[in-house]
Amino acid sequence: MIACPKCGGKEIVYSCEPKCCFNHVCADCRSTFELNTVKTGQFDHQTAISAEEPDSSDPTTGCADCGSLRMAVLSSGPDETLLLCAKCRAVSKLVIEEFVPGNF
Ligand SMILES: [Zn+2]
Ligand SMILES: [Zn+2]
Ligand SMILES: [Zn+2]
Repeated sequence: MIACPKCGGKEIVYSCEPKCCFNHVCADCRSTFELNTVKTGQFDHQTAISAEEPDSSDPTTGCADCGSLRMAVLSSGPDETLLLCAKCRAVSKLVIEEFVPGNF
């Protein structure tokens, strides 16, 4: 679902907790960054998704509208990833913030 912006690694570990922030660490290069969402103003009531509450260390972010963690990837392209909230059906755009590059 998520690749490291620096090395492209797919082993991204969620290092904090939802009540604090969405800080993640890349297992390959140790870069850290937050996965956040912004509202797109769109809602999708058509797409069938099954989004479970994620495991504690899986890459996670919250719905920009309601804060739910039950998010599924709606589409992902080279310059944007759209997430669909299983609770309120809002479409959120994934953004990477607070990027701190690792040492590799
Ligand atoms: Zn990396
Ligand atoms: Zn935190
Ligand atoms: Zn929502």
